[in-house]
Amino acid sequence: MSQSVRTRPEGSGQALSEAYDTALLDLDGVVYAGGHAITHAVESLATAREGGMHLAYVTNNALRTPDAVAAHLTELGIPAAADDVITSAQAVSRLIAEQVPAGSRVLVIGGEGLRVALRERGLEPVESADDDPAAVVQGFGGPDLPWGRFAEASYAVARGVPWFASNTDLTIPSGRGIAPGNGAAVEVVRIATGAEPQVAGKPLPPMHRETILRTGAQRPLVVGDRLDTDIEGAFNGGVDSLLVLTGVTDGAQLLAAPPQHRPTYVDADLRGLLSGQPEVVAEGAGFRCGGWTATAGERLELDGDGEALDGLRALCAAAWTAAGEGACALDGGKALARLGL
Ligand SMILES: [Mg+2]
Repeated sequence: MSQSVRTRPEGSGQALSEAYDTALLDLDGVVYAGGHAITHAVESLATAREGGMHLAYVTNNALRTPDAVAAHLTELGIPAAADDVITSAQAVSRLIAEQVPAGSRVLVIGGEGLRVALRERGLEPVESADDDPAAVVQGFGGPDLPWGRFAEASYAVARGVPWFASNTDLTIPSGRGIAPGNGAAVEVVRIATGAEPQVAGKPLPPMHRETILRTGAQRPLVVGDRLDTDIEGAFNGGVDSLLVLTGVTDGAQLLAAPPQHRPTYVDADLRGLLSGQPEVVAEGAGFRCGGWTATAGERLELDGDGEALDGLRALCAAAWTAAGEGACALDGGKALARLGL
């Protein structure tokens, strides 16, 4: 284990869009936020695609069908087909199909994306615990999911029907704030039944397996904004990852990341796909990247000047090396403030 612990971001002499054959892109906080494309996403993805990189979109949100997600991306100026979209609804449907007889009935608590994905695996979505389901599945149902659906799930799960969840993200960002996600809905049924679901979504292996099966990626790069789903999913799948800072992760969280949350590369936004990545070099007691040198003492310190991202990469090396297999508890607030991060 200790051999494989990442202690600094890696460099790349090649543009990442050339070094990897397929980008497995998270959506919210990476490609779009709310109804808008994130700055630089549209043109960066177009350039990466023109250069031959295959783009796939990987989402834990089971509410919408791949068709609907692809249509939304296309509307934002990012041409995509349904085949380019992989959802946790697809991953959980495969997981269920492997464990129940072909053609089985499955009680669905969730949206259209989940029903379409179940039918794609030859399973029959049903609505009541009295419909004799062979499995129960929960996916994000959106704001209009009636409370009675949790009762249906609970009746079946309490009888011992196998229980599955597309994902367990506790929250979901909306234009108006943070809303309860599917993980919160799963907790409702867990509280009522004391049972434990099988989960498919990021960071768990069924989602990564679904993505690789559908894209045929040989050398994939996971691109995400969240450490405990996107980056940990890449870690669990044994593939490289790029963290972009356009979503939920800030500099302080990155510096405090335990090994499974440390990305291979760090960049500001999706322009990072189009460039190489600078090396972080050990130098004396510290680490240098570009014009910055970072050291770990009583706190994390930064000397020099230059690109803010280089300073962050140097700080990552100092923090992750100091933490080893743990999470760095040193204060990096002053150093991050110097970088404006
Ligand atoms: Mg995200």
